[in-house]
Parts: sequence; structure tokens; C-alpha cells
Amino acid sequence: MHKPIVAVVRYEEPLASVRQAVELCGGLDHLPARAKVFIKPNIIFWTRKTVFPKYGVITTSRLVEDAVVLLKERGIDDITIGEGLVTRNPKDRETPAHAFEMLGYNKLNKRYGVKVLDLHQRPFEEVDLGDGVTLAFNADFLATDFLVNIPVLKCHAQTIVSLGTKNLKGLIDIPSRKKCHSDDPERDLHFMVGKLGNRLPPALTILDGIYTNERGPLFDGTARRSDVLVASSDMLAADMAGSQILGYPPSEIPHLVQAARDQGRPLDPSAIEWRGEKIEDVARRHEYTFPYSNEDKLPLPMEKMGIQGLSYPKYDLSLCTYCTPINGVTLWSIAKAWKGQPWDDVEVLTGKTMKPTPGKKKTILLGKCMYQANKDHPDIQEMIAVKGCPPSPQAIVKALKQAGIEVDPAHLEGVDTYPGMFMRRYEKRPEFEESFFSIE
Ligand code: SF4
Repeated sequence: MHKPIVAVVRYEEPLASVRQAVELCGGLDHLPARAKVFIKPNIIFWTRKTVFPKYGVITTSRLVEDAVVLLKERGIDDITIGEGLVTRNPKDRETPAHAFEMLGYNKLNKRYGVKVLDLHQRPFEEVDLGDGVTLAFNADFLATDFLVNIPVLKCHAQTIVSLGTKNLKGLIDIPSRKKCHSDDPERDLHFMVGKLGNRLPPALTILDGIYTNERGPLFDGTARRSDVLVASSDMLAADMAGSQILGYPPSEIPHLVQAARDQGRPLDPSAIEWRGEKIEDVARRHEYTFPYSNEDKLPLPMEKMGIQGLSYPKYDLSLCTYCTPINGVTLWSIAKAWKGQPWDDVEVLTGKTMKPTPGKKKTILLGKCMYQANKDHPDIQEMIAVKGCPPSPQAIVKALKQAGIEVDPAHLEGVDTYPGMFMRRYEKRPEFEESFFSIE
């Protein structure tokens, strides 16, 4: 039986390392002549307000340029880089444009004629992914002959790993992204993400592990310089390698289990032909989940601070990409507001599936979904609703104040500068090089 080939190489130098990985796995051997090629990096987040750590968060521009060069060497002229960034305001055009400029994509346009697309400005088309699931994918991607998928090799606080399959979520429109974070326990985030690769064109996946991320996917995780690349023309096989490198058997990753089931394939590393480095020589366990107190009622660092009178249950799979960043900043601003006096039995609920704990005096329902789910719940004594989708920083400040938690409005309203704080972790550490995220 034909075995998919996966190459694992150590990253050592520009172009040569990517070339080695791609040639070892034969990743461009089946690239059609004059193909329209779509490159999908991972730019999950961007802000114009501050410099923030991109290590393990965003695909290195180094690898994007190397992939472009390999395509040009094969005579490919029609190359598009496309990404649908997560921004608080869906109409925000400046932030994606700033990201593309700073990451050097406009130089790739001038140098190689590569087109650069903000997918939120482009049309989407519904795609049937099976089992009654339809999601709207970017039409430019659907019209291409070949995908070069270049995600970061990282952990993800909800999906455990974020690799080739998960990176495809950046190709779907905002309503589809929200739909993926369903409140249906049978058709949850794992189920939906597992289906994203069901209608792919021929593809090459390159996992960018120059920097990896523990407790990703964002800047509040812990980045490591790992210098490992994985390449395969079989995305599921590449993801199986990536999960093992991060310390997880593929069978422990529910969305990979779902993808294998949909494709009628075994999730078995022995069914892969491995080339290059041995997995065990490059694997290092990366944790994925943020630690919480025993009953998941408070982040562990906040419990250790001695915070009392507050229950803020751990995020679940239904908390969507658009509520996640503001949720992190809300927790941080609450921790900053703690003055050692217990708050008045306040509970803060997020996502779509949480239920109020009986006996709490004040219940903050954060986000439209939570409000809709619990607005008539009999266990709520005093309801404080923040109905936005996603909720605005100003509305959260007001709600917390009503609950007796006097956060500094500047902390929440300065949400765009918050990511910059995490740069301190990487200062004076020469292995963290910002130059990987620009084009010379
Ligand atoms: S309220 Fe939050 S979780 Fe619900 S769809 Fe809006 S952004 Fe997502």
C-alpha cells in the first residue's frame, strides 16, 4: 500500500533547509505546470499599536519567501498569499494591510509578482464538508490548483495542537469561524476543525517550527526556538508528525481523529514513510492548556494571589476566536484590580455552554452567546449582561464595576497595547530574532 511521505529536517539556513524538506518528501513533484498556487501562512493576530512577540504565533516570512522561491524555480508565476486575520472590527482594512507590509509580503509582490489578499475583502463560497456541515471558504483559494500550507508548529489552548488542518480555519468567513465553536457537544470545535481538510486541492504542507509555542496559539503562550521543519504532500501525515513533535500521539488529538475517520485512514505513524530526522530526536513536550484551580473556577495564578469572591470558569471549546483575546485581557485587568478584599460572590460566564452556579450573588454574562443561553436562567440572582459580539472593552468595564470590581479602564481599553507586554520575555535572548518576520 502507498505510504504518505513525511520529511522532518532541522532548520539551519535560509532556502536550503526548506529545499531539503520539500525535496525529501517530494512535496512539489506533482505540482501541475502553470498551476495557480495559493500560499496560506498563519497570521492569527496583528496589531498596529505595539510590537508584540510573533515567535510561535505567526509564520516566519523567511519560510514564506523560501516557498515562493521554490515555486518560481519550477516556473510558477501565478502565486497568491492569502490570509483572513482575526481583528476586533471585521471592517478593519488597515490592520491586515499593516501586517502584510511589516511581514514583507509587499516586497514579495514587487520581487516575484506574488499577489497578497486580505481574505475578508474577497468573496466566499459555501463548501459541503460532509455530515451536513457547510462552511464558507475564500473563493480565490477554491479556484487554485495547488495549496502551499505553512502553519506554525504550535500548541493550542482549545484544539491541543494547531497545525496544517487547523490553519485552514483562516480561509473561512467570520460566521463560519463562529459556527466552528458550536454549543453542540457532538459537533464541537474538534469535529468541525477535523472537517476543514475534506475538500482540499493537491497540497504541500510545511510546518514552520523555527519557533514553536507552548500554550498557544497567541502571544501569551511561551515560545521556544526549536528549529525544526516538517513537510509532506499529505496534510494529515504532516499533522501526525507535528503532534508527535509537540509531545502528543495523534490519537490524542480529537480533530486529527475526526479527519482520519472522514478520510477512512488509520491514524497510525507506522503507516507513514519517514525521511530525515527521527521524531524522537526533535520532539519536546509542549503543554497546551492554561492551568486553572482544582474546580476550574479561576486561573491558577489568580488563585495563588488569594483572590476570593470571584468565580471565572475556564474557557471551553465554544468560546470563539473573537471573544478569546478580550477574555484574556479581562482576566488580566481583574487580577490587577485585586486589593485583597473579597468580592461579592461574582461569577463571570463566557462562551455558549456555561451555566450559572446556584447561590452566586451577581452573574456577568460575557458576550451575546452567553446572554442568549442564560438570560432567563432561574439560578441567576442579579444578572449583568454584556451583549456584544464580541463584547466591547467599555461594556466589560461597566459590567465589572456594577459587580463591584473596579478595573482600570485603561487596562481593558488599551487592549491593543497589551500584547506588547509579552515582548519582555524575549528581550536579551539572541535566539529570538525579529528579522525572521520581515523580508530583506
Ligand atoms: S459572543 Fe463571543 S463567543 Fe459568541 S459568537 Fe460573539 S464573539 Fe463568538
